[in-house]
Amino acid sequence: MNNSRKDSLKTSVKDVFFQPRVLVVDDEVRIQKACQRLLNEEGCDVEVAENGIKGLKMIEEKHFDIILLDLMMPGMSGIEVLTDVKAHHPDTVVIVITGYATLEHSIETMKKGAFDFLAKPFSPQELRIVISKAIEFIRTLQDIATEKSRMRVMINTLSNGVLTTDNQKRIALANPAFLKMIGCRQKSVIGHKVSEFIKDSRLLDMIDQAIHQPKDIFAEITDDITITFPEEKDDIIIGVRCIPFRDRLKRNLGSVTVFHDITALKKIDQLKSNFISMVAHEIKSPLNSILMQLNVVLDGLAGELTEKQKEILQKSSNRIKSLTALSTDLLDIGKIESGLINQEREELNLIELIKDQVEFYRDQASSKSIQLITKKTLKELWLMGNRTNIEEVLSNLISNAIRYSPNGGKITVWANKKNDCAVINVSDTGLGIPQKDLEHIFDKFFRVKDKTTRHINGTGLGLSIVKSIVEAHHGTIEVESEIDKGSCFSIYFPKLEYKI
Ligand code: ADP
Repeated sequence: MNNSRKDSLKTSVKDVFFQPRVLVVDDEVRIQKACQRLLNEEGCDVEVAENGIKGLKMIEEKHFDIILLDLMMPGMSGIEVLTDVKAHHPDTVVIVITGYATLEHSIETMKKGAFDFLAKPFSPQELRIVISKAIEFIRTLQDIATEKSRMRVMINTLSNGVLTTDNQKRIALANPAFLKMIGCRQKSVIGHKVSEFIKDSRLLDMIDQAIHQPKDIFAEITDDITITFPEEKDDIIIGVRCIPFRDRLKRNLGSVTVFHDITALKKIDQLKSNFISMVAHEIKSPLNSILMQLNVVLDGLAGELTEKQKEILQKSSNRIKSLTALSTDLLDIGKIESGLINQEREELNLIELIKDQVEFYRDQASSKSIQLITKKTLKELWLMGNRTNIEEVLSNLISNAIRYSPNGGKITVWANKKNDCAVINVSDTGLGIPQKDLEHIFDKFFRVKDKTTRHINGTGLGLSIVKSIVEAHHGTIEVESEIDKGSCFSIYFPKLEYKI
């Protein structure tokens, strides 16, 4: 027992990567010597002072981790020394040595900031135990300080902005990158309301949402926001991620928001879209002209054709039509991505639009013996939208339903109201979509590849155009599908977007 106790102080001294500096302040030479010898043996660096004044002078000159302080000394009392040390060197641990360890004394010294006390006479073992406890305490404090400083350096050198608030939306931490992003030159923002520095309502709303997130949910709130500056400085686009932080009982203590400047990425994306649009635009006119000339030849206006020649020209004409469709889709995607397409909005009667589109596709459906009908629901259902866009949505969904249905199927198109939403539905009895592909069909260039769809031409862009248009109108699109039974696409527009 004794040996293991004895070893434990040695271990603590070795564990700490510094040599603990101990000062013994005691007028009794016997105690000074005993403490010094024992603690030296244990690996501590020990110095002594025979009175309070000398002790304080030594503490002023260099840092001590632990002070063993006698309470009863001639001249300056131990309590006075303790008060002074705690006021000027709060990190120093003070262990009080007292000849009469009464309860009142212990309480008073503890109140003044003593870490522990030793009652005279004490055994070497008692001294070892109290010193190793103090070293343990210093080590914990050091670990916390090291961790804090590491975090501070990390957060301050991050190129991403970091903002932390408490649950009253007061700033608890704001790193230099964040302050630069919002163009804030003020040095001390800590403790101020976040709304004093951030005016963007979406961002304030995200922080609010994070702070009020229910206990059972831990979700990251993400969005892209644009920060504008009053001076000539260009706007910047920031990818924002906001999450709550909690205590052990899962109470929200505040929010952490990370800001990533994505202006350059967005610019590159825009350049890429512009380039694609430019190429698509440039190839569309020559393709149309080739197609027209092929048709002239195919119609026999340039002389008689053999069956074989007709077949070859027909195949070429079909391939060129596919290429024209691809360039049209690429142009549409480009327009949607640059936000150009749906700026002009008007009140549209969805019932009318559906009727027109169904009429337009009737012949194409009939050529495959497909029954194309509208379901009678409301007389009118109004949507505030862009006519070309909504027509394109209907046209894409109906033409897909025809293309992905075998001969002799049925397609139904209708609009109705459901849960405060205006809903457009296009349902078919066609090939259906494999379950595993459902989550991808709205991705750009995605096509279901199996033996039933391989021979059907397409670009894989139609549904991604549909989704972009729907989202630009604040709507959502859903699909239900079963292989060989058919598919049903439903588009929901929120109440704000439509009137009845
Ligand atoms: P495309 O039709 O040009 O390939 P889309 O983006 O319009 O591109 O559609 C993506 C894929 O989703 C299609 O390749 C097809 O496999 C599948 N799909 C779309 N609509 C239907 C439908 N009504 N029935 C079955 N599959 C469909």
